[in-house]
Amino acid sequence: MQHLKDLAVWSEPVEELAFVPTMGALHDGHLALIKSAKKFGKRVLVSVYVNPTQFESSTDLAKYPKTLSQDLELAAGAGADYLWTPSVEEIYPEGLANVQLISAGPLGDLYEGASRPNHFSGVLTVINRLFTLVNPRYAMFGEKDFQQLFLIKKFAEQQFPTISIITGETIRDGNGIALSSRNSRLSSDELEIAQVLPRAQKATRKLNSISDVQDALDKVFSAQSGFTLDYAEIVDPRTLLPVSSDFTGQVQVLLAGWIGSVRLIDNFAHHVKGRS
Ligand code: AMP
Repeated sequence: MQHLKDLAVWSEPVEELAFVPTMGALHDGHLALIKSAKKFGKRVLVSVYVNPTQFESSTDLAKYPKTLSQDLELAAGAGADYLWTPSVEEIYPEGLANVQLISAGPLGDLYEGASRPNHFSGVLTVINRLFTLVNPRYAMFGEKDFQQLFLIKKFAEQQFPTISIITGETIRDGNGIALSSRNSRLSSDELEIAQVLPRAQKATRKLNSISDVQDALDKVFSAQSGFTLDYAEIVDPRTLLPVSSDFTGQVQVLLAGWIGSVRLIDNFAHHVKGRS
């Protein structure tokens, strides 16, 4: 595997490139995307870039875990051909203070966006830069960040129609907790608290109406101390909008909260048959 510090040294831009953008601190969720990328593209490029324009707090940005030498090993082990670690200057040559953010529209202001203003504008802005520089044929994103995936798919359809967006399912640990680079900031007690997220999925598994699902979610989260729920939203995966109480069919449950200062998100699909 070749480590590219900037793309100027990339001597052999390739056709049929599969691209896996990450913020580093790689775990099995990222590695699953890299392995899947290998099935699509002839070559796989992984980027590690902690994008400042999607962090609303400089402390959160500073606290983001950085494990580059381990990332190089893990990415190579999963079959990446290139690992690219761009500088801020390469992504934002105009300087961070002068970046014009791309609006994520009204859907970017819901859920994650309500708690993290401009977060998705920052995400679309960096994706626009990365896609333009890398020009891949495929780009891989995890379902773990469901709202992000939804917004990137819509954006790419319009702005980068030649790039196919490929989705990877959420990879979880043995207790069902979705893997996240932020989990490394949780103590073992806090990791136990984090199990409230997969427990929410279990509690709703057999429920057949939206109000029963909502009640079960309320119950699970109010019973768990140490977890501050931000939202538990039941949405239509086709529109990302909240469903009405008489909705039947496929829904996506979006979850987010904090354990101390660590923000965790998760989501799962559920089928609501309706009460018979
Ligand atoms: P990040 O480094 O957190 O920006 O994530 C980079 C990519 O990995 C994004 O497309 C995420 O959705 C995806 N990802 C993060 N965690 C997981 C996970 N547990 N399972 C699958 N994909 C993930």
